[in-house]
Amino acid sequence: MSEIQQKRVVVVGAGWAGLGATYHLAKQGYDVTLLEAGAYPGGLVAGWQTPGGKSVEAGIHGFWYPYRNIFSLINELNINPFTNWTRSAQYSPAGLEVESPIFQDLPKLPTPLGTFVYTQFQRLPLIDRLSALPLLYSVVDFDNSDDAWQRYDYITARELFKTFGVSARLYKEAFEAMLLVGLFAPGEQCSAAATLGMLYYFILAHQPDFDVVWCRGTVGEKIFRPWVNRLEKLGVKILSNHKVTDVIIDDNSVKGVVCNDQVFDADAVIFAVGITGMKKIVANSPSLQNYSEFRNLNNLKAIDVLATRLWFDRKINIPRPSNACFGFDNTTGWTFFDLNALHDEFKEQTETVVEVDFYHANQFLGLSDQEIIKIVQGYLTTCIPGFKDAKVIDSSVIRLPNAVTHFSPGSYQNMLPATTSLKNLFMSGDWIITRHGSWSQEKAFVTGLEAANLTIDHLGTGKKANILPVEKDENHIQLLRNINQNIRNIGKSILPDFWLP
Ligand SMILES: Cc1cc2nc3c(=O)[nH]c(=O)nc-3n(C[C@H](O)[C@H](O)[C@H](O)COP(=O)(O)OP(=O)(O)OC[C@H]3O[C@@H](n4cnc5c(N)ncnc54)[C@H](O)[C@@H]3O)c2cc1C
Repeated sequence: MSEIQQKRVVVVGAGWAGLGATYHLAKQGYDVTLLEAGAYPGGLVAGWQTPGGKSVEAGIHGFWYPYRNIFSLINELNINPFTNWTRSAQYSPAGLEVESPIFQDLPKLPTPLGTFVYTQFQRLPLIDRLSALPLLYSVVDFDNSDDAWQRYDYITARELFKTFGVSARLYKEAFEAMLLVGLFAPGEQCSAAATLGMLYYFILAHQPDFDVVWCRGTVGEKIFRPWVNRLEKLGVKILSNHKVTDVIIDDNSVKGVVCNDQVFDADAVIFAVGITGMKKIVANSPSLQNYSEFRNLNNLKAIDVLATRLWFDRKINIPRPSNACFGFDNTTGWTFFDLNALHDEFKEQTETVVEVDFYHANQFLGLSDQEIIKIVQGYLTTCIPGFKDAKVIDSSVIRLPNAVTHFSPGSYQNMLPATTSLKNLFMSGDWIITRHGSWSQEKAFVTGLEAANLTIDHLGTGKKANILPVEKDENHIQLLRNINQNIRNIGKSILPDFWLP
């Protein structure tokens, strides 16, 4: 056995971040044990079958054009999980509001012109859309640096849009609608820094960024199953139903990871659990509580989501496969997906299968399944009248309390970077601070690779993962950013450091 095989790495949490870290380290010959609290790998993206044999998942997941590292993994695994690029629509209680084209198919315009020109707004007047123009200053000013996060994280998205003169209608019908599905919270509860980062990554940086593909089945079946097979072939021990409860610390290093009465010895440890999971581990761990960075995690919060899947007794015409909806509840956004169009297993069915997911779904989680299904059918009917007379013949309701990261105003100061005070403990996940610039699944995967690279630095053997950077800013954006930064630097050199950032 070579020296490298004797180095043991324990990865905690089998979502995108944990699987990403595990895969890279296993390829480098490390002895990796992956501990997962749940029954299946996948984390928030896990999928499984009901006792009746129907596929369900914890919310449907899109893969946007800039997800370069995930697309590269898919190529490496030599699998073909995705649909073609799909068009999407937005609905409000008034009906169809917006249709999005496939942006990469249209003549390329300097960003963000393409987004403004090609998005087909059905009702929103031009004057409201034009009120977004002054906001472009903050898009240029926010460059995802630590300095920019310090400047923008303490204010809410709503304050940001108000300060830059965005019209009430544009805010309610476009920006807040995007926040509810992109950051899972209404504008008054989102950090302006996270808002600018998320909008730039998914929509504004390059014309095709908003183009999206979906899995042709659950992500669990189409991506995680073949990926986990590959990991097992590499010798990874994947232990599901293993909830980590504590760590053993000695000399500022983690020596072992504790799962109830089992201890897994480790030369390095990577945490890849969400905020709620991490808070529970710290609450149970007097040793981690000795460190203020871990105690401070109690200031972070997560958001409730609700994933439902409904089978209707007849075929209903749904014009676009993916749809986002706003204006039904003040603080909740929701999406619905035509699974007959997206998932292979439902293509030939005579019944309609839809996935309907709610974000910031606090007020719904306490309702019974029947009450939820009734609301869902009512909302669907408002968007597409054909749902009115259809009968629900089967359904699944998955409640996910405190599931997704809440990028609340002021939360940045308590979020953790990948390195910690413990020399051999590295952090990953979609809430971990990184300068990469990606979001959601791609961010989780990238931070997993970053944690793997830090582990390699620490343990001294293996080749680092090649992490693809986000596509460069377009030239005019880069130029404006440089000018803005120079003006800031001059300002800093002559003005005292006196005001709040
Ligand atoms: C309804 C919904 C829709 C979404 N839509 C999209 C989308 O369209 N596109 C997109 O890119 N992203 C989307 N997201 C976000 C995306 O799911 C997350 O960004 C991503 O999955 C986070 O991955 P992660 O590895 O950081 O964490 P997670 O997926 O949360 O994985 C953490 C893992 O750690 C495990 N764990 C927790 N505590 C312990 C413990 N004590 N011991 C061992 N294991 C533990 C958990 O069981 C879990 O498996 C959506 C999320 C939801 C909920």
